[in-house]
Amino acid sequence: MQVELITIGDELLYGKTLDTNAAYMSENLGAIGVTVVRVTTVGDTVEHIEEALHSAVTRADAVIVTGGLGPTPDDLTRQAVAQAFGRGLVFREDVYRDIEMRWKRRGKPVPESARILAHVPEGTEVMKNAVGAAAGLKLTHERTIFFFLPGVPDEMRSMMDDCVLPFLATKAAGRAIRHRLLKTAGITESALHEKLQGIEGGIQAVKIAYLPQHYEVHVRLTADGTSVKVAENSLARTEKVVREHLGYYIYGTADESLEGVVAGLLLDGGMSLCVAESCTGGLITGRLTDIPGSSKFLERGVIVYSGKSKNEMLSVSKETLETYGTVSPETTKCMAENVMMLGRTDLGLAVTGIMGPSGETPEKPAGLVYISLAHADGTYDKEFRFAGDRVTNKNLAAQAALNELRLFLLKNFKQISNRRTP
Ligand code: AMP
Ligand code: MG
Repeated sequence: MQVELITIGDELLYGKTLDTNAAYMSENLGAIGVTVVRVTTVGDTVEHIEEALHSAVTRADAVIVTGGLGPTPDDLTRQAVAQAFGRGLVFREDVYRDIEMRWKRRGKPVPESARILAHVPEGTEVMKNAVGAAAGLKLTHERTIFFFLPGVPDEMRSMMDDCVLPFLATKAAGRAIRHRLLKTAGITESALHEKLQGIEGGIQAVKIAYLPQHYEVHVRLTADGTSVKVAENSLARTEKVVREHLGYYIYGTADESLEGVVAGLLLDGGMSLCVAESCTGGLITGRLTDIPGSSKFLERGVIVYSGKSKNEMLSVSKETLETYGTVSPETTKCMAENVMMLGRTDLGLAVTGIMGPSGETPEKPAGLVYISLAHADGTYDKEFRFAGDRVTNKNLAAQAALNELRLFLLKNFKQISNRRTP
């Protein structure tokens, strides 16, 4: 079944109001096995609404329209329907009585302007509005079923739940759509696509989408099947293959966060951690302390922003700072080792970097970041080069540090990686 949505309102085109109606409708239709194939947004203009209706008739089996059903001059949906489908507007006594009742409850007569709410295009079924005054409309034109709902989100939701979803669920019986979200870290959207390119053609009934977020990319798998079981099975099969191809790049699923996963690994392994942050200014420690129970693994996080503080608080020697610079693998290594020693923990994580736009040199450009991870067997270092603005670079550095910590724990501690096979 081809289902389309039309959302009406100048406010949506101006970008003043987010189209949350479309999101709600798509998500809930998906849950009953109905895929929305197109969303059209038009302003409060009869001509544009008419055009959208005409064009949807040529393609869709069902169309859900929201907005423009109210009593004010900018509410033009009923006029547009009348014109587009050549149906006159008729005054409906039963609809008017419901409107009268609403106003009566508020102890007021029906205002003249609200009479328009009782005018509906000929041959239209009326859907009661449990929340507001404007009734919904349902009609069939050239085999396409149209639902017209109010734009006010509460009213739209109530009518979707009470009328539209139950009706379309019966039409969609025998289809189920299921999604799974895999979250990755340390890899770009195009690199992910390259890794999965080989398998994309071989997978039928499951769509793979790449969803770049602020500092990481999510991979969404969507399966369409003849039953929930069939869809779930296709998803499980595809997820297995995707995981084989992406391995450690996947850090978690929909409800997980990178810091939550890192916290879980530290707790699993009974490991304790100290963090020394320069360029990230506390972001890493902040994210780790968002996780309940972080006191079980986090001993301390120190922000050592200046060279002086690196020397005074973490005993990075003046010689190291002067010879190699505050942003250098040598300084970062020393920070990681010393913070671990001072806190007497299993691990020490440190990060330094040039966040830009000031402070860069030809050898050390903005976005250059060093991350060091110290533990009893030695210290691991990594250099990163980010290309964002200052705040983006800070967040990318924090993300990279947490991800390095995750990878380090998975790869170096058998007792953890055995329990958490990627
Ligand atoms: P209307 O039914 O067109 O008079 O819309 C009433 C109010 O509902 C508008 O002022 C918006 O605040 C809100 N609204 C309308 N359409 C949408 C939409 N697609 N998403 C979210 N809010 C909406
Ligand atoms: Mg409107």
